Formats: sequence, structure tokens, C-alpha cells
Amino acid sequence: MSDLKNAKRIVVKVGTSTLTYDTGKINIRRMSKLAQVLSDLKNSGTEVALVTSGAIGVGVGKLGLKERPKDTPGRQAAATVGQCELMFLYDKFFGEYGNITGQLLVTKDDFEDEERHKNLHNAFMKLFEYGALPIVNENDSVAVDEIVFGDNDSLSAHVAEIVGADALIILSDIDGLFSANPAEDENAVLIRCVESITDDILALAGGSGTSRGTGGMITKLHAAKIAAESGIPTVVMNGADPEDIYKLLDGRQIGTLFKAKRRQST
Ligand code: GLU
Repeated sequence: MSDLKNAKRIVVKVGTSTLTYDTGKINIRRMSKLAQVLSDLKNSGTEVALVTSGAIGVGVGKLGLKERPKDTPGRQAAATVGQCELMFLYDKFFGEYGNITGQLLVTKDDFEDEERHKNLHNAFMKLFEYGALPIVNENDSVAVDEIVFGDNDSLSAHVAEIVGADALIILSDIDGLFSANPAEDENAVLIRCVESITDDILALAGGSGTSRGTGGMITKLHAAKIAAESGIPTVVMNGADPEDIYKLLDGRQIGTLFKAKRRQST
């Protein structure tokens, strides 16, 4: 795992199922621990950007809706409510550890349009220069149809690319990529390292994840592929204990490492 050991700028992505309970309410203990670990890494000199999901899921919980709305306006509305709650708590938790957060709500166009890409890149660089911690989500209240990333795994890979990250860490509710579905096959083993994301590797990923998130393993593999092509290694690991990120950056084997295609010169 030496790929991660010298990482000076990292992007961490956290999913809805890691951030929330089944009730749709925020897992405060975990969110606070994540803020503590990332703040500590920042204090040690590592630059960190966080890509967070949870706007829709938390909005659903806060509004007391029985389930995630099936219609777009319903999801948009839930996202506006949940995003406030998310940022309120991130700001509070990171603030407790002496850190300043900056919110970036982005759409696909921000990455695809040359001018907007440049503006977004500049905003990230300025936040790093100011010592603030960028927190990114898709702008779910306006990102509909063709402008939608849809899952924050791909978004996190594009963020890793735009900030020139040394590593992308995707926190999930499973330990990484398995040789088979561990819920169905007791012989399933965790794959520690993937040199290249081939069709055989893609075939190992099942469909979508939980009812609260939109991802699942396939979107993580797509994200890892985007990152790998930009020379950025990705680790998919369990986010249950955010302190595992320390172990990972210390060079321990945690989760599944997806190797970068070209090594970055750091
Ligand atoms: N942007 C969505 C949200 O914050 C999450 C997308 C995803 O689950 O990857 O609710």
C-alpha cells in the first residue's frame, strides 16, 4: 500500500449509508469521528477534500418522509433540506477541531465546460491556499436529467482529478471488492489489490447498494477507473471506523487498492 503512504493531497468520499442510520438520521458518532480524523490529517500537513453524499437521505429523514421520493422535485426538495443539515453538522464538527469548511455544490457541467472547469479548479486551489477544507456534493436541487452525475463515486473521481489528488479514498459500508458477493457466498474473499480494472473485475460488482444510497460497487469501480486513468490510486474501504484512514496512510493493507495507471510524480 505504499501508493498511499506519501499522499500529500487526498480526496475522501463518504456515502449516505456510512453517514446515516437506517432511520435516515445522521450517525453523529461516525460523522464526528470522520471530522476528527480528517482534521488531524490536515494538521499533520495532508490536504484534504471531502466529497459527501447524504443530502437526499438526510432530507428524507428530517422531513419525516417514509421513503426516498420517486419524483425529481421530491428528491430536489429533500436535498435542499438535507444539504443544510449536512453542512451545519460538518461545519460544527470540523469547527470543533479548529478547521474551516467551504461548501462546493457542483454539477456535471462544472467539470465538462472548459471555463467552468477552470473556475472550479481555482476555487479548490484557493480553499487549499486558505487552509480551508472543501466539502463537495452534487447540486441535487438543480442537477436533473442530463446534467446529473447521479452518484457521488464518479463525482469524487472527478474531484480527485481536478484537485490533482495523490489518492482517492472511498468510504463504503463494505470492506472493499470481494471475489463474490459476501452476503451470498461464504467463500468470498476480499481482493486486496487490483492492478487494472478489466471487464472481469467489473463483472464482480453487483447492482446498486442500499435503499438510502445510490451507489454499490459498480459505481466505485467506475470511479476508480476514472482516477486510475488520471494517475490516481483509489482505495475502497469500510467507513465504519474512520480511524482506519490513519492505518491506510501509514501503509497498512486496508480495503481494496486500485492501482493508478501512471504513477504521479510527487
Ligand atoms: N448527491 C446525493 C446526495 O447527497 C448522493 C448521490 C450518491 O448517493 O452517490 O444525496
